[in-house]
Amino acid sequence: MILSGLVEGRGKLRLYLYSCAWIDQKDPAVGGTLMHEMSLVEAILESLEEMQKKNNWKRITRVTLNIGKMRQVIPEVMEFAYKTAISGTTLDGSELEIRSLDMRFVCSSCSMEWGEDEMSFVCPFCSSTEVSMIQGMELEINTLEVEEND
Ligand SMILES: [Zn+2]
Repeated sequence: MILSGLVEGRGKLRLYLYSCAWIDQKDPAVGGTLMHEMSLVEAILESLEEMQKKNNWKRITRVTLNIGKMRQVIPEVMEFAYKTAISGTTLDGSELEIRSLDMRFVCSSCSMEWGEDEMSFVCPFCSSTEVSMIQGMELEINTLEVEEND
């Protein structure tokens, strides 16, 4: 996890912008089930608590996540899972915001880029199958708003 920098500071409140992610979450649960979102939330909370401890933050007040559409996360379910999971922890009271990122692909034959709602393995411009995904697998912290200790 790489901290890319302090964006804004107002009194003891600080907004941090992150650029890196923990990814791979090993469970095979299908998207849109509470189990799926719950286990993602647990991985996120683990990271946040570790960061809070390491940086000696008083509390984390707001969390913004980038989640690619390939992750099959339903934002409402994720928010519910988050609220449930933070209850009674040091993150209790913090707010979660989810930014859904569309899937984007690039063709290595004609270099065109496009967005798609579904997985696509054929270029719509030249019909090549040399297609790779450039956006849609994200599972990362975008920003964190924290309150620092005195
Ligand atoms: Zn192409």
